[in-house]
Amino acid sequence: MSFVPIICGKRDWDVEYAQSQEYNAIYCPNCHNYKVRPVKRREFITIWFIPVMPFFWGKQLVCPICNWRQDFKSDEQLKKVLREQDNIRAGKVGG
Ligand SMILES: [Zn+2]
Repeated sequence: MSFVPIICGKRDWDVEYAQSQEYNAIYCPNCHNYKVRPVKRREFITIWFIPVMPFFWGKQLVCPICNWRQDFKSDEQLKKVLREQDNIRAGKVGG
């Protein structure tokens, strides 16, 4: 009888959240670039490289430059972030 080890792993990927241009230039508080975009984040436990169990399933803001990430829950929260973006661009932050 041969012993077959079960190979467990983790697989993650980002799915495009929206095609809209307005979502693709959000300010990154970490590296200060306007490159942050929203994604649908998927993380799965894999067995034999097959995703079998969701590990994380949610929405995140992602900066492709410095890899900064922040969870967000809803469209409303995303729109609030976008409204704050306008203030950052206009230099109104901090009064
Ligand atoms: Zn960044």
